[in-house]
Amino acid sequence: MFVYSDNAATTKMSKTAMDTMFSMLEEVYGNPSSLHTAGQTARERLEEARKTVADCLNADEREIYFTSGGSEADNQAIISAAKAGERKGKKHIISTKIEHHAVLHTLERLEKQGFEVTLLDVGRDGIVKVPDLEAAIRPDTALVTVMFANNEIGTIQPVAEIGNICRSKGIIFHTDAVQAAGHLHIDVKAMNIDMLSLSAHKFHGPKGVGALYARKGTALTSIIDGGAQERGKRAGTENVPAIVSMAAAFKEACGNIDKNAGYVIAMRDRLIAGLEKIPHSVVNGDRENRLPNNVNMCFEGIEGESLLLMLDAKGIEASSGSACTSGSLDPSHVLLALGLPHEVAHGSLRLSLSEYNTPEEMDYIIEKVPGIIEYLRNMSPVWEELESGRREHFID
Ligand SMILES: *Cc1c(COP(=O)(O)O)cnc(C)c1O
Repeated sequence: MFVYSDNAATTKMSKTAMDTMFSMLEEVYGNPSSLHTAGQTARERLEEARKTVADCLNADEREIYFTSGGSEADNQAIISAAKAGERKGKKHIISTKIEHHAVLHTLERLEKQGFEVTLLDVGRDGIVKVPDLEAAIRPDTALVTVMFANNEIGTIQPVAEIGNICRSKGIIFHTDAVQAAGHLHIDVKAMNIDMLSLSAHKFHGPKGVGALYARKGTALTSIIDGGAQERGKRAGTENVPAIVSMAAAFKEACGNIDKNAGYVIAMRDRLIAGLEKIPHSVVNGDRENRLPNNVNMCFEGIEGESLLLMLDAKGIEASSGSACTSGSLDPSHVLLALGLPHEVAHGSLRLSLSEYNTPEEMDYIIEKVPGIIEYLRNMSPVWEELESGRREHFID
């Protein structure tokens, strides 16, 4: 059996997205900035896509800027809000310890430029505490950036509450909604979101394309200099086939949120129930406020990387920590933020599902994982210490 269960890293393109992309590549090759018919045809399709993306978020099409993906949208949103704050003498930014590196590394760069950054802790449940956020707000706070849903542990953050607080205090609120877009209902107006990032390849669209929503009146700084595309805020000839394909994928995903969530949640919970039976294992992140597709667990006494390779040999593709941190020896910053010790955080497994998975695949995973864990534990010096009582179990 072959089971792709790494949808938080990327998804396969839907048939709709693929058909749209192929036909665009074949037929709509004009440059949207050209005045001739081929150009204007591309322009029309581009603006239709903008309207589609806006509608899915309850935004206005003039509030949507196309980017090369989630990382670029995060960078532009945060840099824009920082520069706007700086002009008013506000150089304080609030975020969390569990953000994606596209956010954390942008904040580190700003710190070197003299901005002050407060990174909020999360509880053991992987959720930011709203009172902590309120307490961190200062008169010079320019920006709050808190992700909609976490890419590793799937926890959903109290975005509407945070939006409400920020709006009442006149602070810009950005949310990295890359894991949420197309999977959870998003209403930028009702949730008082000023800026939002999304990425097509996380909802069965193509890679290398995304969007930044910026509420009317929110100052945007261009981070790529060149032509006047995207109303002067993002230079470079638009990737029209990818953008139109993204819009098709987004519309499809947004139209099926409830249907897909019901189906995927049932598989998620079946998987958790099966894997939880493994001794000394724990589910990371809150069980209720959680993405429909996310399973994240730690197994004491093993290395996540070894587990991944053995799973891959059985046809199961999963992840340990985030795709971006794997390859480095540091355990996931998200799992450490939950208060897990290094050695426990190393033994993590993330299975992220989609509507293309089946319940039979879940049973296959449940069948294979326990034996692999037992095998790895039997050769693990850490496990031996745990079992002999020389080291204390962290997980019961
Ligand atoms: C994938 C991801 C990103 C990066 O998006 P790209 O389109 O790959 O640049 C940013 N934030 C989160 C939460 C993600 O899951």
